[in-house]
Amino acid sequence: MQILKSKRLEHLRYDIRGPVYEKALELESQGYKIINLNIGNPAPFGFDAPDEIIHDIILNIRNAQGYVDSRGLFAARKAVMHYTQTQGIKGVDINDVYIGNGVSELIVMSMQALLNEGDEILVPSPDYPLWTTSVALSGGKPVHYICDEQSDWNPDLEDLESKITPRTKGIVMINPNNPTGAVYEKEVVRRIAEIAERHRLILFSDEIYDKILYDGAVHYPVATMVQDTLCVTFGGLSKNYRSAGFRGGWLILSGAKHKAKSYIEGLTFLASMRLCANVPTQYAIQTALGGYQSIKDLVLPTGRLYKQMELIYNRLTAIPGISCVKPKGALYVFPKIDLRKFDFKNDEDFVYQLLVEQKVLVVAGTGFNYIKPDHFRIVTLPSVDELTVAMNRLEQFLDNSRIH
Ligand code: PLP
Repeated sequence: MQILKSKRLEHLRYDIRGPVYEKALELESQGYKIINLNIGNPAPFGFDAPDEIIHDIILNIRNAQGYVDSRGLFAARKAVMHYTQTQGIKGVDINDVYIGNGVSELIVMSMQALLNEGDEILVPSPDYPLWTTSVALSGGKPVHYICDEQSDWNPDLEDLESKITPRTKGIVMINPNNPTGAVYEKEVVRRIAEIAERHRLILFSDEIYDKILYDGAVHYPVATMVQDTLCVTFGGLSKNYRSAGFRGGWLILSGAKHKAKSYIEGLTFLASMRLCANVPTQYAIQTALGGYQSIKDLVLPTGRLYKQMELIYNRLTAIPGISCVKPKGALYVFPKIDLRKFDFKNDEDFVYQLLVEQKVLVVAGTGFNYIKPDHFRIVTLPSVDELTVAMNRLEQFLDNSRIH
């Protein structure tokens, strides 16, 4: 008899490391070199963590042998608290900060602590798919609202509001956005805050890319715009500080905490169940958040991240049948394929054939819960040289697949 996985997992997807990724591993095991444009992991592309982060972890490794407070080290939480003050988020106390093994763990905890069977959470489409899966895994129902490509991937607020029901408990926003690269306009953030206030919904704001901004884009933390709503903000080391493998993230409670005593109890309970987040990394959080922010140099027009993003954008928009919005932040480009012009069925077919024929790995848009099967996501992390090869192959592949 086969041992079956839990029914809760049956319809869940995480395509960033899904079946096509498995195919890529298989091809690699046969000796092919794959150009991986599928995952936002800075280190393998030569983006080293800032030296001071590495030094702090090494220097403190002996102090990091024991468990610490389940919410996190005092100094780390205090640094996050101070960061909220510089951002203009009011009323965050040290016990409103939870340190986790990356934002991923905290996203799952934030949903598990809240949801009962059938409770609804509004999640953007497209989204970073961990949000959709975490809602479902926690017994909730993810309800997707549209982010509109025609308005630079800003959320469609009418669609969002029309999907609120008596079962809706919260709104997820991802800003700057993975996969679209959108950075929401101030008025959009303000209106989402206003909708949450009016309907008494919790705001879950994933701001892990808040320092990866291009062309003068400004990031507005939604927690600065709420009065009487609970706001749960997420940030971490993985992207801004190129330290994804160290697994360090934080969750910040602000706004109407007085209305959320039981939920906060639930969060603290889940944090204690896993004893604490990994300790060596926590020693680096204070250093990361204070002082010189090296990411700023990378996102300037002269910086590596910017140049790579621009190369992808310029090359893609020169291909007939491919269009895309220029990213304002984060590490991704999310182009559209005009399916009428090419000989593949949908985004998944495109991604699979591109991998098999040209050994270039990207992720299909539907893997991000996007409603139409005609987008894909590319990461902007590889060097200009590697991206040039990848873009040549993509161009070649699309030329071969063009319907004449
Ligand atoms: N949130 C978003 C929007 C992401 O893109 C990612 C990783 O790609 C995460 C959260 C998870 O980050 P972490 O490495 O902190 O778990």
